[in-house]
Amino acid sequence: MSKTILVVAEQRDGKLRQVTYEAIQAAKLSSNEGDVIHLAVLGSDLSGLQDSLASLGVQKVCIVDDADLEHYNPEAYASGLSQVIESSNPEGIVFGHTAIGRDLAPVISAKLNAGQISDVTAIEDSVEGVLYTRPIYAGKAFEQKTFQSVPWVLTVRPNNIDADQTKGAPEVEHISYQKPASLRTVIQEVVQKTSGKVDLTEAKVVVAGGRAVKSAEGFKPLEELADVLGGAVGASRGACDAGYCDYSLQIGQTGKVVTPEIYIACGISGAIQHVAGMSQSKIIVAINKDPEAPIFKIADYGIVGDIFEVVPQLTEEFRKV
Ligand code: FAD
Repeated sequence: MSKTILVVAEQRDGKLRQVTYEAIQAAKLSSNEGDVIHLAVLGSDLSGLQDSLASLGVQKVCIVDDADLEHYNPEAYASGLSQVIESSNPEGIVFGHTAIGRDLAPVISAKLNAGQISDVTAIEDSVEGVLYTRPIYAGKAFEQKTFQSVPWVLTVRPNNIDADQTKGAPEVEHISYQKPASLRTVIQEVVQKTSGKVDLTEAKVVVAGGRAVKSAEGFKPLEELADVLGGAVGASRGACDAGYCDYSLQIGQTGKVVTPEIYIACGISGAIQHVAGMSQSKIIVAINKDPEAPIFKIADYGIVGDIFEVVPQLTEEFRKV
């Protein structure tokens, strides 16, 4: 019998985020022939998404469009999503392992009494069923898990599963939002971040600064390098705690998890809590003036030197390319 897998989309500024296409692919890797994929899109004034939704490689797009869903609110989103779940009756639900997915997926799992596998980095078929790989012990080891019951809930780490590229003409269903009886969480104010052209968790190149940058001004050369490479700037908690940058840039166990093609660690020692957030990067480049710095143990390329000399030189060289 065919089953439905529901993917929960993430959108920003009238665009579907890259992780949505990766989650669609994760749903496809979890499905059998004849199964159908539905996409849940929640937000306010979603008309700008029409074109991208019209050509997605899924069977159905379920839209919940309401002013209450303009900004992420866990209770409002859980309520809107529950209505989609009621309509689609999915066997599995896939979220991105993003700030929203990490918050919303457990709420939905609890509501449905579903098993959840979080932070999945790879999916493969096996005789026991679909195997989901996820990092454990701050990225020092991996475990493989499989679901034993339905429904199930999955979150996929951005930048690990190839994005779905297929094009289709999905059916569109508009589902009316039913406000929960009482909203205990109310959004008072949204402070929009103005810097950062590229989303840190989706960036192909991340240039991260540590305590060694010494000041907010010290991030400027890193920003220039990131600009030249079309990447984003990140930071260690050392740099954030020192007040050199915003905590939204923090990478690590208690910050964001990134998996770019290239991670350039500038003046970062390589503490285990930092490494937990970047060790799955495809290529790691470390710049540190201490040749014994632990970051060199996980780096593919190491430069022993002063970041204030090396980073501008790299920027200059990459500008020529
Ligand atoms: P430091 O450890 O001070 O390292 C600075 C490095 O810069 C040194 O290696 C030094 O040799 C080098 N350096 C200095 N000057 C220069 C120069 N001019 N040029 C080149 N190199 C230079 N940390 C995180 O990053 N993310 C987390 O999510 C996180 N979560 C944590 C959770 C818990 C519960 C705890 C206890 C800690 C957590 N930490 C986290 C903190 C972590 O343990 C480290 O303290 C932190 O990562 C250190 O930041 P840093 O590497 O920038 O600073």
